[in-house]
Amino acid sequence: MTARPIYLDHHSTTPCDPRVLERMLPFFTESFGNPASISHEHGRKAATAVEEGRATVADFLQVRPNEVFFTAGATEANNIAIFGVLSDPSEHVITSEIEHKSILAPIARLEAEGYEVTRLRPDSEGFISPAELASAIRPTTRLVSIMAANGEIGTVQPLAELAAVCRERNVLFHTDATQAVGKVPLDLSEIECDLLSMSAHKLYGPKGIGALVVRRGVRVSSPLVGGGQEKNVRPGTVNVPGVIGLAAALELRASEMNEEARRLVELRDALWDRLVSIEGASVHGPRGLRLPGNLNVSFERVEAEPLMHSLRRFSISSGSACSSGDREPSHVLRAIGLSEERAMGSIRIGLGRSTTADELEMLVEDLKISVTRLREISAVR
Ligand code: PMP
Repeated sequence: MTARPIYLDHHSTTPCDPRVLERMLPFFTESFGNPASISHEHGRKAATAVEEGRATVADFLQVRPNEVFFTAGATEANNIAIFGVLSDPSEHVITSEIEHKSILAPIARLEAEGYEVTRLRPDSEGFISPAELASAIRPTTRLVSIMAANGEIGTVQPLAELAAVCRERNVLFHTDATQAVGKVPLDLSEIECDLLSMSAHKLYGPKGIGALVVRRGVRVSSPLVGGGQEKNVRPGTVNVPGVIGLAAALELRASEMNEEARRLVELRDALWDRLVSIEGASVHGPRGLRLPGNLNVSFERVEAEPLMHSLRRFSISSGSACSSGDREPSHVLRAIGLSEERAMGSIRIGLGRSTTADELEMLVEDLKISVTRLREISAVR
């Protein structure tokens, strides 16, 4: 029997916590009602559970429950935020070069329809400068969308400052906080953010459920139309077990996040120091202000694809999972100034709750062997 590979891809997704699953299960079976059907007991019970879940999400982010709208994940939340706020091609949009595709693709579509778009370039560690954002804002700027944390190189943006720049100039600020929520503190009573997207499967919750936060006074005209659920922001029957799972996952994050972050930063930094002792290794992204479980590394004269395949004992990703498969270098790594060759050689190590020091020691040993072997193969070619 072969042992299961060790999972080191926690930015792609996380396992659903068994405590979360346990809370969800009754909502598939005995409490299966449709929360929109409040004329009877089954529906009312589901509606009550959904509203309790909404209150939990709101509490976690320090917003009001009526500012939380459930979606099928962050891709949907991002699409609704962008298409729901922008309505006139004379408007200007600002984003960054290192966003997830679920931001870049909707904005590219708007650009093709005539909207003016500015894509801010990050510095070499992936930070977006609030001063550069301020100077990019024009009288016609309607929306700025900048992610809270990057899933490839881990950079945690100065979100409060970026949001303040927008608020001072009366421009809407959206953040895709999918990689940040539940990993680093995020308190919307201190960050002047108008819209926020998130997803449960990145924080030990189930897949297919997320939320869009829309602060009071912000109007969203959703691209989706249907039965009017979620006040028309996201029509469609609410995924009740998903909502329960998202809320349960956030409750656990509230009590466990800080301790886990401390442990992961320690493991991550120790791994970092071990990796850079391998000849020709470079770590990409910042050492501080970085997602606790994130490391992105490349090795001179080694390509990521064969390297990942030779690391059979581990599930590891190159670039972001959403773009792996197409053999393009990561747009994030190119934006922070890596050569195409380096970008094609980078792997992302995503530590998570289950990760142990022993596993990372095994990884270092395997990496040393694989890197040496792959360099030998490429030398004789
Ligand atoms: N934004 C970011 C930053 C992400 O990392 C991801 C997931 N890879 C998404 C959005 C999409 O999230 P979902 O899978 O919930 O659609």
